[in-house]
Amino acid sequence: MNQSSTPKVAIVTGASRGIGAAVAQRLARDGFAVAVNYASSPEQADALVVELKAAGGRTFAVKADVASAEEVRAMFDAVEAQLGKVDVLVNNAGVLRTLPLAEHSDAQYDQTFDINVRGTFNTLREAAMRLNEGGRIVNFSSTTLALNMPGYAIYNATKAAVEAFTHVFAKELRGRGITVNAVAPGPIATSLFLDGKTEEQVQAFAKMPPLQRLGQPEDIASVVSFLAGPDAGWVNGQILRANGGVA
Ligand code: NAP
Repeated sequence: MNQSSTPKVAIVTGASRGIGAAVAQRLARDGFAVAVNYASSPEQADALVVELKAAGGRTFAVKADVASAEEVRAMFDAVEAQLGKVDVLVNNAGVLRTLPLAEHSDAQYDQTFDINVRGTFNTLREAAMRLNEGGRIVNFSSTTLALNMPGYAIYNATKAAVEAFTHVFAKELRGRGITVNAVAPGPIATSLFLDGKTEEQVQAFAKMPPLQRLGQPEDIASVVSFLAGPDAGWVNGQILRANGGVA
């Protein structure tokens, strides 16, 4: 819970739906002023903002393609103008295309790396200049990196890069009191995971963890809440695998 009278400010990238929306809801409940970033779903982002405001939150929706350095810079400008300097950055925006490596087109490869890797790079670079002392950064990896399943080579490569950023950037921010961690979810019931899978395939994934269910966005939002909050002050440079025990 945020104890100060002025709410701390959080940016959640890709917060229009899925895990990002649940993270925005949870951080708003924790007392943060939350910038709801989106790229192509303005209606969903706006609906979330209406919901958070109705619950008393300070929030607004901010359009930015994280793959664009210019748009990310403009997003930080807008957040500073509307909510104040940023304390928490959640790098949730990401895409997954499950396809054998040999079947990826150049465009598909570029898109996955542009959003998952360059997008994280763009926001981290901006955060290095702009995050308040004592801030928190939460990146998004994936448990698929530990599973090495066919079809995940390109996606896993992007998440390996995100994990590398996390370990090194935590050290590069020495002296600023800022922690940099990543959460690596297992299968979570969002469109990223569900789209293109048969019911049989979904059920096979649901049976994988010893907890015998798919994760829900809220399962990950609570982990982000922990990493963004005071109780995780001594956790830095770590990858937290939240996956029901699947790996
Ligand atoms: P999702 O339901 O597909 O939602 C993706 C979000 O990212 C949307 O809000 C989307 O916004 C946004 N987004 C996509 N491209 C963007 C861009 N260029 N700039 C800004 N925002 C962009 O996905 P999810 O399942 O919630 O995944 C969230 C994160 O968790 C991702 O990093 C993913 O790799 C990771 N993850 C997910 C799972 C899983 O099983 N679901 C497992 C492990 C890791 P618009 O609609 O506005 O474009």
